[in-house]
Amino acid sequence: MIDVALLGTGGMMPLPHRYLTSLICRIDGSLLLIDCGEGTQITLKLLGWGYKNIDVICFTHFHADHISGLPGMLLAIGNSCRTEPLLIIGPRGIRNVVERLRVIAPVLPFEITFEELPVNAGEFKANNGEPFTNGEYLLSALPLDHGMPCLAYKIELKRAGKFDLERAEKLDLPKIYWKHLQRGEDVEYDGRRFTPDMVLGGARRGLKLCYCTDTRPTWELPEFINGADLFVCEGIYGDDEKLDKVTEHKHMLFSEAAAIARDGGVDELWLTHFSPAMPDPENYIDIARAVFPNTKLGRDRKTKTLIFKDE
Ligand SMILES: [Zn+2]
Ligand SMILES: [Zn+2]
Repeated sequence: MIDVALLGTGGMMPLPHRYLTSLICRIDGSLLLIDCGEGTQITLKLLGWGYKNIDVICFTHFHADHISGLPGMLLAIGNSCRTEPLLIIGPRGIRNVVERLRVIAPVLPFEITFEELPVNAGEFKANNGEPFTNGEYLLSALPLDHGMPCLAYKIELKRAGKFDLERAEKLDLPKIYWKHLQRGEDVEYDGRRFTPDMVLGGARRGLKLCYCTDTRPTWELPEFINGADLFVCEGIYGDDEKLDKVTEHKHMLFSEAAAIARDGGVDELWLTHFSPAMPDPENYIDIARAVFPNTKLGRDRKTKTLIFKDE
C-alpha cells in the first residue's frame, strides 16, 4: 500500500493557513517527498510522519515556492539523527542548486547523493528503472511545459501474481522456501533451481500515484498518468476566465487539470497549487467536476491510503 499526504496546497507563497504545494508518500516505512517550499518542514511536523525516514526528495523545478524550504528541511532531518544517505532527484542542474542552498546548511550527519534527470521530451525512469530498495517502488518522470524545465513524477508499486498453493505443493520444495518464490526470488535446493513463475500467476494490478504541477497541459500527460489510482495536479485558478493569465504564466485551470484526469482515466483527482488570489477554491469545484466527477479539492495534510484492489 501507499500512504499519501498533500503537505500544502498553495502556489507562489505560503499563507497562514495554506502551506506551499508538496506531497509526501510512505511505502514500507520509507518516505519520499516531492517539492519543499518555505514552511514544508512545519506542515510535515503537523502531519507527524517524522523526518528521519525521508529517503528520497524529488524536485519538480527550481522556482522558490518548490525548493526554498530545503536547507531547513535538511537540518530538521539531521536533527532527527539520520545517518543513512539521502537521495535528491530533480531536473538537470539540481546538484548545483542544492549545493548553493547548502551554504547555509553545510554540516549534516548524512551524505546526499543526486540523480539528475533529463529535461527534454520523453518519459524516463529514475534509478535506471530499477525499483528503489526501500519500499520497492519505481519512479519515473515526464518533462512539462513551464517557464523553466519542470518534471511530473509517477510512483508505481508493482504487485506480483497470486501464489498458487496447488502448484507449490507439487514442487518437492520445503515450505520454508516458498516465501522467497513469493517475493520473486529464485531458490536453489537439492541441486535444482526453482523460479517464481513456477508458483505465481501473472502480475496483478499494482498502484500508481502521479504528481504534476506548474505546467500548461501537454499531450503526453494523459498517457503518463494513465489509470493512476490518484492524480495530484495543479489548478492555480478555478475560473475559466483566467485562461489568458495561466497561458502567459504557464499554469493550469481546474478545468484543464480535470480534462487531463478524464483523458488519463484516473480514479481520483486532487487539485492543488492554488493562487494566493483565490482564497476560496471550493467556489469553483463544480467547474472541475463537470469535466471529471471524481475531483477533490486538495487541502493541507489531506491523506489517503492507496491499497491493492482485489482481483
Ligand atoms: Zn509553483
Ligand atoms: Zn513554477
